[in-house]
Amino acid sequence: MTDPLVLHRLDPARPPPASLEAWLEALPGPAMLQVPGADRSRSRALVTLLHGNEPSGLRGLHTWWRAGLATPATDLLVIIASVEAARTPPRFSHRHLPGERDLNRCFRAPWQDAPGRLAQAIMAELVALGPEAVLDLHNTSGRSPPFAVSVLDDARHRAFASLFCDHLIVTDLRLGALMDAAEHLFPTLTVECGGSGDPQADAHAAQVIHRYAASDNLFGALPASDTLKVFHNPVRVELAQGARLSFDPADQADVTLAADITRHNFDLCRPGDTLAALGTSGLAALVARDHRGRPVLGELFTSHDGALTPRQPLHLFMATGRADIAASDCLFYVAPVSDNKTS
Ligand SMILES: [Zn+2]
Repeated sequence: MTDPLVLHRLDPARPPPASLEAWLEALPGPAMLQVPGADRSRSRALVTLLHGNEPSGLRGLHTWWRAGLATPATDLLVIIASVEAARTPPRFSHRHLPGERDLNRCFRAPWQDAPGRLAQAIMAELVALGPEAVLDLHNTSGRSPPFAVSVLDDARHRAFASLFCDHLIVTDLRLGALMDAAEHLFPTLTVECGGSGDPQADAHAAQVIHRYAASDNLFGALPASDTLKVFHNPVRVELAQGARLSFDPADQADVTLAADITRHNFDLCRPGDTLAALGTSGLAALVARDHRGRPVLGELFTSHDGALTPRQPLHLFMATGRADIAASDCLFYVAPVSDNKTS
């Protein structure tokens, strides 16, 4: 077991092996790579693999490095975080190590456990560097177009997000994510590149890394009002305690999601559209709370002939096609159209 306190320094002169899997096995543990840029007076940070089951950022980095590590516009610090979780068999299937906390919930005290100390070490490196921006690359668990997430909505974050995505989610939820902690010090953006294992998400991650490294000014391009869609505080829709969820109508579960639910990610769902079939307990099988913890299920949804349908037009995000993730994390997020500020 490598020491989780140490971010091992990788040598930019020694490119990784041709296979991503061989590289992952050879990494000394959580690692960092410092790449000198054309402008040595500025720096940026790129963080990836905070979640061990979200490999697109690592793949993109592997591609970029194998292609010769083109000189970035500014110095670039790359941090590869949950190496141990990623290579715990089966590879790229563990969000975090079994029995440990989710690293991307550990960027606030307490720091006592291993993921807490790693989060603290990552923050310490960022503080020491003082980058002009921090970019954190993730995958969603279900198929989804790429989108950005930030905790601030201003012209700089909109310009930054529009370099990579057409959608920006702004959240007031503070979970102890890197983004929450880093934003106090540096403009910070999370980019969800699309679903884990989706080759399009891998390609998008590679493009994001290229643009992030190569752009001279991350904050200069103000997006036209119609190119970046901004959504504030989406609501998490979760399974109620004890309720059962399935994708198979034959299971007669409390909630049966449509097998193609992920096709609707970022779609607008209207009253009358069926998002799920409900069992005998009806809407009681679900819980939806806004970012202040207020229950809002009844405001947003109704049950019509045993079908879950919106009461008002809702944008749907981050639906997953995996029953275990839908049951343990959430079914999807929704944002009412009235809250969607696109100005
Ligand atoms: Zn993630």
